[in-house]
Amino acid sequence: MALLGAIEAGGTKFICAVGEDAGSILERVSLPTITPAETLAACLAFFQGAAAEHGPISKLGIAAFGPLDLTPTSPTYGHLLETPKPGWSGTDLAGYFAGHLNVPVALDTDVNGAVLAEHKGGAAKACQTAVYITVGTGIGGGVLVNGRLLHGLIHPEIGHIAVPRAPGDEGFKSHCPYHADCLEGLASGPAMKARWGQAAETLPEGHEGWEMEAFYLAQLCRTLTVTLSPEVIILGGGVLMREGLLEKVRVRFDALMGGYLPLAARAGGLDRYIVRQSFGGQSGLVGAFALAEDAA
Ligand code: ZN
Repeated sequence: MALLGAIEAGGTKFICAVGEDAGSILERVSLPTITPAETLAACLAFFQGAAAEHGPISKLGIAAFGPLDLTPTSPTYGHLLETPKPGWSGTDLAGYFAGHLNVPVALDTDVNGAVLAEHKGGAAKACQTAVYITVGTGIGGGVLVNGRLLHGLIHPEIGHIAVPRAPGDEGFKSHCPYHADCLEGLASGPAMKARWGQAAETLPEGHEGWEMEAFYLAQLCRTLTVTLSPEVIILGGGVLMREGLLEKVRVRFDALMGGYLPLAARAGGLDRYIVRQSFGGQSGLVGAFALAEDAA
């Protein structure tokens, strides 16, 4: 069987792997995100070494931080657009590997990769329209519509939707450098840390910060529900690891919907409509393999 290559390209590290699929990885490596020249060369060396050891790689999937130019006709297709990550704006991710490895490359956002993986073998398996949200260092969302990943001008940037302030949160300065009241600025891991003076992981159970987090994520679920009509909303990322948060989001979402349309009932109940992601901390890499499978 042909080997696939996969890259989870993140702001702090690039995880590369080779295998028949995400469940049968032969070799993997984690490389620090330094400069594009250094990091991409290190990734390339890994794939060349793995190919020498295990046989040729037939296709490559890259699930990357963004924003990305994903318009096939654009002269800068496959490049990172302007990103706050120093030195990385304009980097040609897809072209670099397509050129050096001479294989088809599929590039998409890490969250679009994750929703595709959920569609192929996770919580969105029975669905044609689904959303995957990650809440961690940032907030991002991948969208599958009618079985296809959603692209437009670029790709969804769900972390930057506007949300009403939670009661008592009016004075907090948004952590997003662009928006005074976006979801990422108010509800990402760094925003929680700035507001409460400690990281989300150390925030005790019963702390008011968790109710506020549920308030913001329930707003997000409401907006997604009435705009995209997903069959399932999948929540992942470090902040969502906290026991009980998902349940709080469901309760608040239900209240926010105010009984309008029996949407959750159509999905088989709230606990089947707003669900936890399927692949633990591996969703980025599993997503990259899912992208690689579809590379053409
Ligand atoms: Zn923002």
